[in-house]
Amino acid sequence: MRLSYRYIELHLRHTFTIARSSRDIEPCIIVELEHDGVIGYGESAPSERYGESAQTVLEFLKKVDLARFNDPFRLEEILLYVNCIAPGNTSAKAAIDIALHDWVGKKLGVPLWKFWGLAKEKTPVTSFTIGIDSLEMIEQKVKEAAPYPILKVKVGVPNDREIIRKIRQVTDKTIRVDANEGWKSRDQALDTILWLEEQGIEFVEQPLSADCLDDTAWLREHVHIPLVADENVTQLFDLPRLSGVFDGINIKLMKCTGLREAMRMIHTAQSMNMKIMLGCMIESSVAISAATHLSPLVDYADLDGNILITDDPFEGIDVVNGKLMLNDRPGLGVAKRSTVTEC
Ligand code: MG
Repeated sequence: MRLSYRYIELHLRHTFTIARSSRDIEPCIIVELEHDGVIGYGESAPSERYGESAQTVLEFLKKVDLARFNDPFRLEEILLYVNCIAPGNTSAKAAIDIALHDWVGKKLGVPLWKFWGLAKEKTPVTSFTIGIDSLEMIEQKVKEAAPYPILKVKVGVPNDREIIRKIRQVTDKTIRVDANEGWKSRDQALDTILWLEEQGIEFVEQPLSADCLDDTAWLREHVHIPLVADENVTQLFDLPRLSGVFDGINIKLMKCTGLREAMRMIHTAQSMNMKIMLGCMIESSVAISAATHLSPLVDYADLDGNILITDDPFEGIDVVNGKLMLNDRPGLGVAKRSTVTEC
């Protein structure tokens, strides 16, 4: 098995601002795993929030020696080896996991959704993310989001209410909010969420810092709409402590090491009676398509990372009026576009 990779930059359509950061360019590492004449594609979208950068991903991938394996079907063995190289590095590990799954699907000639026994028509509608911005720009972004029936609005800043009021002036669409740990106390979070409930908000993602689990449990007792964990959940081992604190979890391939771990988390969360969202970082169609293959199993999708960029190097799944549309191509069902900016 031969592994190669290259660093590229993805450019955002609009400056992307959330409660803790703001950016125009996202680093991305595209992985190719070649064996027996078949190439599997993978992707890493590192997040500083989880201790990764393009540099840490490239350093990790340098340590991965897949030449020691000669059968990509032995996913358990290969991914156990990759996982044991170093702790963390979850998006770098995800890149290899995704590439292996793409290879397996292509080799067998089946799309991943079929390989897993899923129904492709059961994909959910993805939300479209509205980042923090001036009220004028937020209004413009809501208009640009016309084809998407569900909005996920970034909050966790002093003018949260102005933002939601502005959006409600323009649309009565379903709104979910994501505070990205932005509210600084449980009282501030409670006050804001009770107001958001009056605005018909569907649920709240990550109201408080991931360190404040006791305060989040208290909050859960005092609000009436679901609380969904994002920064509080990375991998399967996080789930037991979230029971009774959150109503749902946001699984992202880049946080959890890839499709294999995401599948384990989905099954475990279902057994805990928790709602499941599949989310993403700013990613190309490689990683977004990978997550979409799992989406018939989940309650909510927030898989719009490839829609927020202007230079997606791949084409993959489609989105029609917000609904994620899987195709019948084998593996991930992605193909390189002809123009790719290499750095
Ligand atoms: Mg989030």
